[in-house]
Amino acid sequence: MKFEDFPSEIKPDLLPSPSGHLVYHCLGCGCEYEIDSLLYTCPDCGKVFLIQDLEQDRLAKRTGARWRQIFDYRKMLNLPALKGVFLFHEFLAPVIPLEDVVYLGEGHTPVVAGNQELTEMVGTEFYFKNDGLNPSASFKDRGMAAATSYLKFLAREKGLPEILSVCASTGDTSAAAALYAAYLSGILKSAVLLPHGKVTPQQLSQPLGSGARVFELPGVFDDCMKVVEHLADNYDVALLNSKNAWRVLGQESYAFEIAQGFDYEVKALSLFVPIGNAGNITSVLSGLLKFERFGIIDGLPRVFGVQSTHANPVFRYYAEPPEKRRFEAVVVRPSVAQAAMIGNPVSMPRVLKLVQEYEERAGEPRFFVVQVDEQSIMDSMLLANRNGHVACTQGGESMAGLRQALTQGLIKPGDKAILDSTAHFLKFSEFQTTYFENRFSPDFEITSQPELINRPSYVAPEGLDRLPEPGVKLDPEDFKAFVQSAAKEIARVLGLKPKKN
Ligand SMILES: *Cc1c(COP(=O)(O)O)cnc(C)c1O
Ligand SMILES: [Zn+2]
Repeated sequence: MKFEDFPSEIKPDLLPSPSGHLVYHCLGCGCEYEIDSLLYTCPDCGKVFLIQDLEQDRLAKRTGARWRQIFDYRKMLNLPALKGVFLFHEFLAPVIPLEDVVYLGEGHTPVVAGNQELTEMVGTEFYFKNDGLNPSASFKDRGMAAATSYLKFLAREKGLPEILSVCASTGDTSAAAALYAAYLSGILKSAVLLPHGKVTPQQLSQPLGSGARVFELPGVFDDCMKVVEHLADNYDVALLNSKNAWRVLGQESYAFEIAQGFDYEVKALSLFVPIGNAGNITSVLSGLLKFERFGIIDGLPRVFGVQSTHANPVFRYYAEPPEKRRFEAVVVRPSVAQAAMIGNPVSMPRVLKLVQEYEERAGEPRFFVVQVDEQSIMDSMLLANRNGHVACTQGGESMAGLRQALTQGLIKPGDKAILDSTAHFLKFSEFQTTYFENRFSPDFEITSQPELINRPSYVAPEGLDRLPEPGVKLDPEDFKAFVQSAAKEIARVLGLKPKKN
């Protein structure tokens, strides 16, 4: 809709202009730093930041109802800068002018209800939110849109030369970083560090296709992360891992969208989010807290972090009674939820702080972590996709988490759940292939269930002299023989009955 056609009473608030006073707030010593340079960790104590808006109270000048109205009207606006995660500009990164917002189609991903069959199987009503339908096919684009918009803003303000960004990745961060850098050519260049053999071929092809410098290292993600941290500490590079607090801001849009998608009535929902480096769960909690504080939502929903038994440091932490909790990194074992295969999550201090705040606001336990085994992750992904979803292995993990929460009585049948499918199925299709060929190595602890296996059948009609091949024209008789014989074989396999004439 054209700006002039909006009702006059909404026009003054429709287009946001830069506002607020953002600072890096250190979760270790509480120090605050201005955002006029890119910092990742506290120069004083080395701990991670959350970005805070010191002028946040100004947002209370509008009622929750007014904010809801603004966001809902904005959806009708044909302005690229507000079409993605920056629709929630005032709550996301309000200092960034719209002219610096990078929009590649991220956000506003579909929420798809489970069909009747799958709903019955799972035991309660649920929806997948398909974050695989982001431009680089994972939720990481949300954070990358915010982080690269900030870099663009910074580069313009300070007249900086081209910035080199670096990140370590379980596959999807590098795909997103490389994509946004490719778009911002002249402003941003990307180098990515991947654990050799621990990202899927599809994920490897993404940064290569976007023209990033790709480095493969021995070890797992946690090892790559250490190298990237060393680079960021000692060289002039911009780090794009979720240690970068701008990423957390962009990813809050996931929570904002759930709010908007359910008409801001979210209190009775249960959100299931896979946890790897814990950036996503940080953002979900932080986003919900913001919307609750300003009366935009009706209350805080239950939030469930989900981890595999093969990479479960956050589960282990919260499984202890509060007085006994001590965080310990774990050594990860192979996991099909490979994008979450992280033993020492960088955002753990953020989780600790936000969970405490979340439960204080909610006044009761509303945050839980469940763990699920590899078998249930794979089986859940396959079942979901057999019922019309496009869930990745981490999406399978979310669904397995819902089933686990039901089994443990943490939620009851009738409670409505939202499952985060964090990436597109196709990025992780090799795990499906491995399952269908029943050749998982023993350390995965996955046995293929025959009823879930699906394999192609090659139809090679017997007794024919000539078969079709590319570039060769069969003579009509041979071709007819081939068509009839192939159709007959397929009809036999499918048990088709001939038409009656
Ligand atoms: C990064 C990623 C995760 C884990 O998210 P964190 O923010 O690291 O906890 C889960 N699923 C997919 C597909 C990812 O790319
Ligand atoms: Zn500090």
